[in-house]
Amino acid sequence: MIDKTTVEVPTMEVNPELCKGCQLCIGVCPKSVIAISDKLNSASYHPAFYTGENCTGCSLCYYACPEPGAIVVVKP
Ligand code: SF4
Ligand code: SF4
Repeated sequence: MIDKTTVEVPTMEVNPELCKGCQLCIGVCPKSVIAISDKLNSASYHPAFYTGENCTGCSLCYYACPEPGAIVVVKP
């Protein structure tokens, strides 16, 4: 969970349990900073994750994601 009070640069977070691994977020991210985990979540999907740098906070991933609550984008 992102602590929104301490965010200094734009960042995103995927809740791995709500992600179904469709990769739509990966396709729309202009910075190519989202990847798919090697691990499985409890529903046997490979969840997406933020690789940790260079998110601009554009929120394209958020709007592309069909799973409510799976992606959170936070801007300072
Ligand atoms: S907010 Fe924009 S730059 Fe950041 S991960 Fe999502 S699509 Fe990529
Ligand atoms: S668009 Fe949503 S459900 Fe699909 S891989 Fe990305 S976070 Fe997961």
